[in-house]
Amino acid sequence: GKIEGGHRYAFYSPEMNTWSRERLSLEAALHHALANREFELFYQPQIDIATSRLVGLESLIRWRRPDGGLVRPDAFIPAAEESGLICSIGDWAIGEALQQGARWRAEGLPPVPLSVNVSARQCSDMRIVDTIRHGLADTGLEPGLLKVEVTESTAMHSAERAAELLHSIDALGVGLSVDDFGTGYSSLSLLKRFPISELKIDRSFVGDVGREGDDAAIVRGTIALAHGLGMSVVAEGVETQAQLRFLAGQGCDAAQGYLFSQPLPAAEVREWLKAPPP
Ligand code: C2E
Ligand code: CA
Ligand code: CA
Ligand code: CA
Repeated sequence: GKIEGGHRYAFYSPEMNTWSRERLSLEAALHHALANREFELFYQPQIDIATSRLVGLESLIRWRRPDGGLVRPDAFIPAAEESGLICSIGDWAIGEALQQGARWRAEGLPPVPLSVNVSARQCSDMRIVDTIRHGLADTGLEPGLLKVEVTESTAMHSAERAAELLHSIDALGVGLSVDDFGTGYSSLSLLKRFPISELKIDRSFVGDVGREGDDAAIVRGTIALAHGLGMSVVAEGVETQAQLRFLAGQGCDAAQGYLFSQPLPAAEVREWLKAPPP
């Protein structure tokens, strides 16, 4: 498996090519994992570029196998989406992030907005609005401390239902971010029609910004677009000081990436909240 911040990553199984038998057993394993509480949220810090302060934490799901190995979402989210299990996993993730946020609040740690990823498949289901509403009520967490990350494909699936869903989330006081901005097939009019508060620049555009080519132009344009529409911008996948300097020069609001930190287990985030690194 891959190593991330000292955490051992495992592949679900050696023969995970998606032959239907394995896919079926992966689905069964995911059902079991959910019932057995084998999912865990890691959190990746988002840093305000101007002040170097922590301004957000993106929750990223991990599957901790009983043998201790960690499985990355790319290895199981697609199967969860296909089987429909993503709705239950997504409900779990929203509830877990809210509970974690409330626990940190109860400990007197500084409030930091938490972002939760929501798949397009899950988004066509108004049930997540109830999940969010109930989660907020149960935990007492301020709605402004939650952000929901959707992708452009969410809005493409069914524009009318997406509008209803996104407006309902917005009405709860929860923020809406467009994830992987620029990689989907949406039109810019989505940004006008939906109550979006934040754009996340996909890391495929951030990697090359040092070289002043097309990616630099796209990043510069995205930042100007977001600010022109009154939205904030987070750059993903920031790995180098050169990338950070470029983003700072363009007035990008926040950055997230290995330059600052990999996604961390909750216990490690807690230490960060108690005593931010210099
Ligand atoms: P994403 O939402 O675009 O998340 C960013 C991914 O980039 C994460 O991968 C993160 O670990 C990785 N990353 C962060 N900084 C860097 C960097 O500097 N360099 C590089 N190369 N990578 C970086 P991860 O955690 O494996 O998640 C993959 C995808 O799985 C996510 O992409 C998201 O689409 C999905 N996902 C994660 N958690 C959830 C969840 O709770 N629900 C749903 N529906 N999808 C999730
Ligand atoms: Ca995301
Ligand atoms: Ca992303
Ligand atoms: Ca991505």
